Amino acid sequence: MLAARAGARQGRVALATLLFTVVQTSVNAVQQAAAEARGTSVITKTAAGAAAAEELRPGPPPAAEATAATVSGDSARSTFRLTLTSGVQAEIYTLPSPYRVIVDLPDVGFRLPAASGEHPQGLVKTFRYGLFAEGKARVVIDTTGPVRIDKAGMVAAGGGVVLSFDMIATDPQSFGLGTGPARSAPAPHATMQDEPPGRDRGTKAKPVVMIDPGHGGIDGGAMGSTKLLEKNIVLAVARELKAQLSVSGRYDVRMTRSSDVFVSLDGRLQASRAADADLFISLHADSLAASGFAGSIRGATVYTLSERASDEQTRLMAEKENASDLVAGLSAGKGDGVDEVNTILFDLMRRENANYSADFSNVLVGKLRRSIAMSRDPQRSAAFKVLKQAHAPSVLVELGYLSHTEDESLMNSLEWQRKAAASIAAAVDAYFAKRRASTP
Ligand code: ZN
Repeated sequence: MLAARAGARQGRVALATLLFTVVQTSVNAVQQAAAEARGTSVITKTAAGAAAAEELRPGPPPAAEATAATVSGDSARSTFRLTLTSGVQAEIYTLPSPYRVIVDLPDVGFRLPAASGEHPQGLVKTFRYGLFAEGKARVVIDTTGPVRIDKAGMVAAGGGVVLSFDMIATDPQSFGLGTGPARSAPAPHATMQDEPPGRDRGTKAKPVVMIDPGHGGIDGGAMGSTKLLEKNIVLAVARELKAQLSVSGRYDVRMTRSSDVFVSLDGRLQASRAADADLFISLHADSLAASGFAGSIRGATVYTLSERASDEQTRLMAEKENASDLVAGLSAGKGDGVDEVNTILFDLMRRENANYSADFSNVLVGKLRRSIAMSRDPQRSAAFKVLKQAHAPSVLVELGYLSHTEDESLMNSLEWQRKAAASIAAAVDAYFAKRRASTP
């Protein structure tokens, strides 16, 4: 639906969708099949009903693993091949802004050779893969321009199957044309590990602290020179922080994700709202594009929300973090964009929460400064989507720069992670102590 809107906005249908199932045993095992749900599909041999896309998905996910992923071909036609240990159902479609091909899979584990997807080939710039939501895996292929899907299918090979399809260069005008109604990539719901009990504001026994490890699953975030991924660093610090905050028993500590799974920005906001969080702490670790001085910039920075970025570098950083949903293959539809949040939530956002966010940022920078390196200007602000919360004071912490060699190796050490978590926990204590003191 989101994608449909995106397409409609451009005056054309923006998606080509097809769904195919696999025959695992038959000799000629290409049963590419069925059915873009609500209409004519590009490659439809057997028409399936409208609900087929969902109903055909198996209940318990098959235990399949992807063991190789390759791209061949040139800038006119390129072929993508994914080798799997067993047949699965796959759904392939295209998305605009930026142009991407999405391969949705059930619970597939990835055991691909290192550097898979990192090098451009033909129509493919790069591709990435990983868990998109619990039980759902995804491959997102960034293409050099608009493409259409051709010859999609799966064949039995060497005890497993190979899923393959061609991408053919097309022009923006014919992108997605004649492929039936657009079908959106469903945004995963918030994957909180513990659903909050239904509670009224004011009746909770303890303040709820929501820890938000950025990125996850298919969205790796920034990458260090030793291939260290932001999503793993921030999850490690988040777990450590949760453990430390839980010791005192003073807080109800939750996480927007507690495993390597993708959560959309909306999902993170929803999780915070649903839990009626009293404080929201988003954890990240940025990387600067290689330039003359990028390697010398380091240290932690605490960001709060503002419509205007405090400086150009911060504006670019917020843009990058706000693009997380695109990285994971969500469409750039308005419904999952910043606009809606701007007009509704941001208008309603209480001044009070902005002040509390600033308070917490002050305390946090003071505590962090004693244990880890800080950036030159450690308190900044910009329009981070994940901070646009009407109900909770919120900050986003960039723990350091993965583009700085020393930051990278420190952030990867357990000792540093514990130190950083301890400082954040101390700031949480100081912040709530102050609030308790000032509340009659
Ligand atoms: Zn990030």
